[in-house]
Amino acid sequence: MNNLIQVKKIKKTFPLLEKPLFNDVSFTMQESSNIAISGVSGSGKSTFLQILAGLESFDSGSVLLLGSKLEKISEKKINIIHRKSIGFIYQFHHLLSDFTALENIMIPLLLNDMNYHAAQSASLKMLKNVGLGTRANHYPRELSGGERQRVAIARAVIHTPKIIFADEPTGSLDKKNSSLILNLLLELVQEFNISLIMATHNLEHIKRFQSSYEMIDGQLKKC
Ligand code: ADP
Ligand code: MG
Repeated sequence: MNNLIQVKKIKKTFPLLEKPLFNDVSFTMQESSNIAISGVSGSGKSTFLQILAGLESFDSGSVLLLGSKLEKISEKKINIIHRKSIGFIYQFHHLLSDFTALENIMIPLLLNDMNYHAAQSASLKMLKNVGLGTRANHYPRELSGGERQRVAIARAVIHTPKIIFADEPTGSLDKKNSSLILNLLLELVQEFNISLIMATHNLEHIKRFQSSYEMIDGQLKKC
């Protein structure tokens, strides 16, 4: 089985932190896997995901993302990887406020050169798939928190990336919505054969993943 991500002995420091956030952290993510990263607030979950996705630098070590070495990669190449092969979901939806739910989902397809009408019909189908067929023309401000996260999930999945990076996607939702959103995300990644790496500190959620790690004292421990 191929590795989607291979991290070797990375170190990460931030100027204001008295000790390195990570030291010698290694990690592998295989194709068709889903992985949870837990850890207390401030342990470095978000920074770790950002490094793996090529959005944050690191001091030493190496990261191979979909066959490309991130310590050497050009901005152009990482942009292409993001556009074609990665989906992102954050705690707060990060939807574009001037665009409707449908338009937000269309954006990744348009950026990948799909024609407008094809993108529109694929996005409408996906919107129905996430239970929001009647909300196509609603703006993010006209949706509930749970509905916005459904749109954010649809947007992350629509271009069938290889990997989705999800950073506490249920962190701002109540318990019921939180488990509905996790169910939806796990169903969709399975349906479209997308690998998922998700930061969470919800113990109930961690149990649903094939494998899980805890970020603790600058180390990544397998649970
Ligand atoms: P988590 O997602 O687990 O809550 P983060 O990765 O957001 O943790 O942050 C880990 C630590 O790194 C925190 O102490 C935070 O203050 C620090 N940190 C994060 N980003 C920066 C930055 N850009 N500059 C300086 N320190 C940062
Ligand atoms: Mg975080």
